Amino acid sequence: MEVQGMRIGHGYDVHRLAEGRKLILGGVDIPWERGLLGHSDADVLTHAVMDALLGAAGLGDIGKHFPDTDAAYAGADSLELLARVTALMGEKGFSVGNVDATILAQRPRLAPYIPQMRDNLARVMGVGLEYVNVKATTEEGLGFTGSGEGMAAHAVALIERQ
Ligand code: MG
Repeated sequence: MEVQGMRIGHGYDVHRLAEGRKLILGGVDIPWERGLLGHSDADVLTHAVMDALLGAAGLGDIGKHFPDTDAAYAGADSLELLARVTALMGEKGFSVGNVDATILAQRPRLAPYIPQMRDNLARVMGVGLEYVNVKATTEEGLGFTGSGEGMAAHAVALIERQ
């Protein structure tokens, strides 16, 4: 039984950092010496958010909806994919409640870009800014994010039955 029509989901994603790629996080093109490698624009934050929404709705994950074997998603704008996930939520009778996400990255310093990330995600999901939170942390130089091999993101989402 659901708690007052509310459901929760979690998303996690990782992408490798590579030279010659753009660094796109939450739809923001961040000037940096390397970017995230992937079939789409490799927006690790938006991917984690989509997986949290799909998870909350019991609809699998983005790999199921937007397979990386499908040429249609080569270089895809992840905000457009988030718009499609949001539309799917609506079709299934859910609305987005709130989302909280954390980016794990050693560098660059992301704080200056977070307001724009929030704005992008909130606009695409059709919710107020106060329902979207984005945080960034380093992992103190430890592991693959600490060495700069890659970035990761976690997200949780609450959705409500309309
Ligand atoms: Mg991904």
